[in-house]
Amino acid sequence: MSPRKNYPKKRRPKSGDDEPITIASNQSFEEDDNGLWIVRKLTGSAANKPYRCPGCDQVIPMATPHTVAWLDGDEDNRRHWHNACWTKRNNRRPRTERTRNAPRY
Ligand SMILES: [Zn+2]
Repeated sequence: MSPRKNYPKKRRPKSGDDEPITIASNQSFEEDDNGLWIVRKLTGSAANKPYRCPGCDQVIPMATPHTVAWLDGDEDNRRHWHNACWTKRNNRRPRTERTRNAPRY
């Protein structure tokens, strides 16, 4: 009863979008303060129901390509994100805060 069928393992050459080639067809890993995330890019055709994006709290309509991510070993709690929201999330890590209290001179 797995929702994932066997995707054809085709590498689509995408110009201008240098995603690293990943182990599974469209799966990658990202690490942050919470741990290791498994990140999977879904194509529109794989999205057969609407989901709510935790990044912007908006619904991702059916048939919209988006990102699914979950913490390693916690696949039951996987979340569906807009691609843009997932990317933004990475830019917004609290850790990237610089020492902006430092005196200029
Ligand atoms: Zn979103």
